[in-house]
Amino acid sequence: MLIPDIIIAIDGYSSTGKSTFAKRIAAEVSFLYLDSGALYRAVTLYSIEKGVISPSGEIDRQSLCRALQGLDIHFEDKGDGSMTYIGDRCIEGEIRTLAVSDKVSPISAVPEVRDFVDDRLREFGRRKRVVMDGRDIGTTVFPDAELKIFMTADQMVRARRRADEMKRRGETVDFDEVLKNIRERDFIDSHRETSPLSMAEDAIVLDNSDMTIDEQMDWFRRLVAERFPVREC
Ligand code: C5P
Repeated sequence: MLIPDIIIAIDGYSSTGKSTFAKRIAAEVSFLYLDSGALYRAVTLYSIEKGVISPSGEIDRQSLCRALQGLDIHFEDKGDGSMTYIGDRCIEGEIRTLAVSDKVSPISAVPEVRDFVDDRLREFGRRKRVVMDGRDIGTTVFPDAELKIFMTADQMVRARRRADEMKRRGETVDFDEVLKNIRERDFIDSHRETSPLSMAEDAIVLDNSDMTIDEQMDWFRRLVAERFPVREC
């Protein structure tokens, strides 16, 4: 598909399928895909391991800021998709567990954590040709992104998708717990002081409650054809 060198920002609620959609788009237009949630999840895993966040959710903010200084998070693609690393340790599986999901929203609400992640994301976006998914990519990280999509879907549909994904990974799943986690994250993400989840004025809404991924891709192709028409010379 022909598309100019742009930044594509995909924001929206938890478990709306942002990463699946963003990865498919990146493959179709040969852009780099970046999962900003993975960075927040990595910081959260690290915070749990360093005891910076207690099991009841209290955050020792000073220790958290100190811990961030020595934190090396990066992505590697060894042919099986982009994997998240801390140093030379692959943490892709660990960051998707409920233990991390449970603490990620309070950790991401800390302004120093947001600065830490935003700096890394902006570095990746300097040369454009990226698809980034998250909560504030089109509003805060790249307010000038040329294409912004805001994804939403019914909460029950999202909880079912997340539960199925966890089952596929072999985790034991309590559906009510998953639904509760999604509701809590929607609330915290939308109400935090710094960079709350909100839709950019120039974003286009995609409600994919009843759409397959192929239907979403057709929607995307139509959108690109409208926004960036190919001019005949
Ligand atoms: O996208 P994912 O569900 O993996 O993100 C995990 C959490 O990271 C979100 O619930 C949200 O609290 C936080 N996040 C954020 N800003 C982003 C991406 C994720 O606050 N740009």
